[in-house]
Parts: sequence; C-alpha cells; structure tokens
Amino acid sequence: MLSYLDQDITYLKGVGPHRAQLFQSQLGIETVRDLLHNYPFRHEDRTKIHRIADIVEGMQNIQLRGRILMIQKVGEGPKRRLIANFADGTGFIQLVWFRVSKALENMYKVGVDYQVFGEPKTFGSYFSIAHPEIEELERVKNRPLLRMQPVYHLTERLTRAHISSKTLSELVATALERMPAPIPEVFAPDFLEEHCLVTHDRAIRDIHLSQKAQDIADAKRRLKFEELFFLQLSILQYHQARKTNQIGWQFSRVGNYFNTFYKEHIPFALTEAQKRVIKEVHSDLRSGLQMNRLLQGDVGSGKTMVATLICLLALDNGFQAAIMAPTEILAEQHYKGIAEQLVPLGIRVELLTGNVKGKRRKEILNEVATGGIQLLIGTHALIEPTVIFHNLGLCVVDEQHRFGVKQRAALWEKNKRPPHILVMTATPIPRTLAMTVYGDLDVSVIDQLPPGRKPIQTQHYRSGQRKQLFSGIVRELQKGRQIYFVYPLIDENEKLDLLALEQGYEAVTEAFHPWKVGRVHGRMKPADKEKVMRSFANNETQILVATTVIEVGVNVPNASVMIIENAERFGLAQLHQLRGRVGRGAEQSYCILMTKENLAEATRQRMDIMVETNDGFVIAEADMKLRGPGDLEGTAQSGLPFDLRIANLVGDAELMSEAREAAAKILQQDPDQQNPLFTSIWGELRRIKQQQRNFSGIS
Ligand code: ADP
Ligand code: MG
Repeated sequence: MLSYLDQDITYLKGVGPHRAQLFQSQLGIETVRDLLHNYPFRHEDRTKIHRIADIVEGMQNIQLRGRILMIQKVGEGPKRRLIANFADGTGFIQLVWFRVSKALENMYKVGVDYQVFGEPKTFGSYFSIAHPEIEELERVKNRPLLRMQPVYHLTERLTRAHISSKTLSELVATALERMPAPIPEVFAPDFLEEHCLVTHDRAIRDIHLSQKAQDIADAKRRLKFEELFFLQLSILQYHQARKTNQIGWQFSRVGNYFNTFYKEHIPFALTEAQKRVIKEVHSDLRSGLQMNRLLQGDVGSGKTMVATLICLLALDNGFQAAIMAPTEILAEQHYKGIAEQLVPLGIRVELLTGNVKGKRRKEILNEVATGGIQLLIGTHALIEPTVIFHNLGLCVVDEQHRFGVKQRAALWEKNKRPPHILVMTATPIPRTLAMTVYGDLDVSVIDQLPPGRKPIQTQHYRSGQRKQLFSGIVRELQKGRQIYFVYPLIDENEKLDLLALEQGYEAVTEAFHPWKVGRVHGRMKPADKEKVMRSFANNETQILVATTVIEVGVNVPNASVMIIENAERFGLAQLHQLRGRVGRGAEQSYCILMTKENLAEATRQRMDIMVETNDGFVIAEADMKLRGPGDLEGTAQSGLPFDLRIANLVGDAELMSEAREAAAKILQQDPDQQNPLFTSIWGELRRIKQQQRNFSGIS
C-alpha cells in the first residue's frame, strides 16, 4: 500500500516524462502521494453558464457556451499569438493563446461549439480571455454538470502546456481509482470521533472529487486539523527537547537589589499584568533551564520596568545583565532612564553603542570583562566578539523584530552556559499564533495599560480639511507641546517619496513659523539622524517631519500630536506603532490620519479601526483579517517548521488550538514514542520531517 502512494506519477495514465518533469518543477509533485496532497485551494460552481452580453469589468472566472467563428495567428516572434472569435448569440469575445505551437494551431476548429472557462479582461472595446479552459460542448454535454469543480494552483508554464485544474482533477481521479486499498489512517477511531474528523481516505477523495459542499467542508476540516496537529506536535516536541536539554543558570534568590527597588524606588504600583509576567519569568529563572521568552506588550504597557526588575534578579544572583536595543537613540534612552533609577542603589550601569569609542570604550570593555559593570545597555555593539562578559546571566532584547534568530544565537555564546533571554516586542499577535510562529520561544503577554492614561484620540482627516487641522496644531504648540509629521517612505529609494517629505518640510516650516522644524529620514547618515532626533527630544525643535524611521520606541513624552500623511499607504500594524509615539505623557494626545478624499473600501476600514480602538491586539487581529494571512506567513516564515498546504494560521486559529491541545496530550501520554497506539502518528511525523529536509535540500 505504501508503495502505491510512493510510486512515481509517471505510472499514471496520461503522465509522460515531459509532464512529470513539469509537475515536479512547477508543483513539487513527484509521487502519487504528492498528487493527492496537492489540494484544490477552492471550488467553483460550474453549473452556471454566463451570456457574453452580461460580461462586465472585474468579473472573476466565468463559463460560456458558444461557437468559434474564426481563428487566426497574429504578430511576430515572441508576440505571436493565436486569436479566436467566440460568439454565443448575445455577443462575441476573443480567446487568446500566446506562444503558439503547431499542436495548438490545429486544436480548435471554426464552426464547432465549445464550453469556455476563464477570466474576462477588457481589451479595447471588447473582452478577451487568455488561455481559457476550453472543451468541445459535445463532450461536456455527455457528463453531469459539476457543481463543485476543484481549482488548483497553476503556473504560467503549466497553463502554456495546457495543464488545467481539470487535468489535475482527472489525474487525481485516475490515481484514486487504481488505489488498491484505502489510504492508511494515522489517527485511532476514537481520536477521530473525539475531534469529529472524517478518515484521511474519505477526506482525500472528497476534497478532490466530491460534489457536495458539506463533504468538501468536512474534508477540509479533517485535512487542516491533521496538518495543524503535526505542526503543533513538532513544535511541542522541539520545545520539550530544548527544555530538557538546555541547562541554564539558576537564579535561586530574590535579593536586596530587587526587594529594595521594588519596595522603595518604583514611583507607581505595577499593573497586575506586569506582576504576572514577572512571576512567569521568575519561575523560568529558578528552573535551572535556560529561558527563551517572548514578552508581548502594547506600546506604553510598561515593558521597560519589567525588564529592569528582571535584570535586578540577575544581579541579585551575582550575574551581569544586558539590555539590547535596536537603535542608538533607544539604547541611550533606556540607559538614561534606567541608570537614573538604579545608580542610587549603588549599581554600575553603562552604555555601549557604536558611538562609544577609543579610551572610553576600552575602559568599558575592561570593566565588563572583570565584572565591575553589572548592567550593560547598548545596541548590536553588545554582541560583537570584542565584548567579553565576566558572567552574563541575562539579556533583554527590546523590539524583537529588528533582531533575528542569528543575533540571538550570538548571545548564547557570551557565557559558558547561554544566558537567559527575554525578547520584548510591541507588535502583538494572538497568543496561539505567537506560540506557533515563535516556536522556539515561550510567550508572556502584558495585556493591560497602566491606569490613568488618557487614551490617544485618533481622527481621520481628508486632505481638504487641512486648514482646520493646522489651527488645532497651533493651539498645541502654544501650550508648549511638540508635533510629529510622518510621511510614508516605503522604499527609501523612491525619489517621489523623498520629494513629498521635502515639500512637506517646507510647507510646515512656513505654516508654523517661528516654531522650529526638524526633518529626518532613513537616507541620512546615522550621525545626522541622531542629531535631529536629539534636538527634538530636547525640545530645541518643536516639530519633527519624519519618515517611519521614528517608528520604533522613540520616547518624547512632550509630543502630543502625530499627523500621519498619506495614511492610506500604511498598514494597520505600522499605523499603530507610529501612533504609539504620542500619548506617552500626562497630556491628552492626538493622532491624525491624513488621507486623500476617495478611499478604497479596505483603506476606509483600516482608518475606521484606527479611530475606533487603541488596543494593539484588536488591531493585530483585524490587520491579519484584512490583509489575509499571506503577509503574516511571509514575515514569519522562518518560525514555522514546515509550510502549510491547506490550513491558515489566522483563519483556522480555533482549529489550531484544538490541534495543539491534542498534540500536547499525545506528547504527554507517550513522551518516549513507545506506545503502539501512536506508532502511526510518530511515523507520519518522521515522514513529514524527512520530506521537509529533502525539499529544503533541493531548493
Ligand atoms: P513600553 O512597553 O512601550 O516599552 P514603557 O516601558 O516605555 O512602555 O512605559 C511607558 C511609560 O509608562 C513609562 O513612562 C513608564 O515609566 C510608565 N509605566 C510603566 N509601568 C507603569 C505602571 N504600572 N503605572 C504607571 N506608569 C507606568
Ligand atoms: Mg519600550
């Protein structure tokens, strides 16, 4: 049975060496199993026949019935194409094939009736369909109409070779017909029942061939569950292995530094969420295993205070601690704030960035190596090989997205045993998703803002209302507040964007004379950038015209208004990050989303969400729903042990939770993989991992 699934698809009728090569290179299909696991990504109702007269712009795939009135070759060389005039009595359209071959030229005949399927595009005054699916009507009529026609991913090369969704589904049908026995089932019957799953065999047949929507839905659910189950099983297994193997420093005491600071120096009461996170971290630090934890907390949720307290735990146990920030400015800000709090306790805190040079740098490096410096705050400079710690026990990495897995690994080398690592991020994603995407990290969440904050008021302005807006800004300036103007600069090379920034700068300088205006963008030299930012931080300039370089972590509590120009060009996550730059002081703050007049529906929704809520988690979820999970998988790919074929990290979040629990249960019941009940599950996991290795080996 196994051997049948592992058979090469060339054994199937209709697959010669040429096609086999195409399937392999375009879809990664080599074996029968690959073919069966190449699921359709949607189904189309093929009972509906459109009239050509009813075609309008923007239609998706449609189905037509009519006659070819004329066929001709036009153009020369690479532009050569075959064009057919196709009419159904209500009108006519063109069918077009590029890269004409002899075989193609003779394939379709004038005066014959066909059924045609494809996406109509306007072409001058008429519509045309390029590379349609086309079949003689006579043949179509001899078989039942398909209500649920599977649609598979195809590539241009496949389309050119006349391989369509129909070809694929016919091939699947052939493979399934010849199958000597049902496809083996990995789950036990009571497991299937518990999770309301159809068998694997049933699911595979139905997803490719069923005509019933309910059967297809059941099949999808089963296949998604299976995929998510094995994803979670491998993540949990990895976790477990790391947990039992990665010996870490044990911080067994809570000592004077922590207690004194906690009881006497913190100027406010910690939020419940901050306390909970500190407990979670503390239990990691006591465990004797190395901590790798992600701390998610919305902008302003007080991650820095948590980081500070945790560093004190390291110091209390005789270790050094480090805090690493993504930019010099942020590192300096952390240093200023934290040194102010900790130096009174007699703690040695130092700053190490690329700016610290010469004798000063040497001194610091020396004292880090001898242990004189207890807490080192800095940028990437911290992980350079020249920085040798006496006894580093903990490193906090702020704003995770600027640090890759590689940099984290470099940190591990900084002591005989790897130091504990706490990664902090203000880009929240739902918890189950975080556990999946950041597979190697445990996750803590600060889901509460400190009390008494005035929520930022967000307003959406159209460009016509600019005058109104400016008078409001003047009032804020008169109150002594500072202002950000942010321009999109998606690609730092885009001249037009820079031009917009320049023009904005000039307009703002003129409009708000005599207040001082600074400008900063990513193309400036780091030193110049720093200078501009610093004068804004010191209120030497009152207005800052900037690109998204200010997105991460900059803290100027006196800034109370952020105007985001061309807000339609930003994604939700970015808008939220930017907005987090205001609302850091006691004053009421405002975020103004400036857009053009006419907005696409999705853009309007983004603006509405921003106006309605300040909750980063709500925004993150909405963002994923609006953008679709594709982007997310793109940004997070490195975290997943294998690619998903059918399940969707965002859309199938609930099923993922269920699958994760089921996987955890199996891992717990059979940690040594000895239980005969689960043999097939472990076997399948090995097969998936092996296949992944082979695949990554090729590509
Ligand atoms: P983020 O999570 O964005 O890094 P910060 O750590 O910069 O947030 O905290 C934002 C502000 O809130 C800081 O000024 C900090 O001192 C203050 N803060 C932190 N925790 C509390 C709390 N429990 N109560 C009141 N203010 C707090
Ligand atoms: Mg922060």
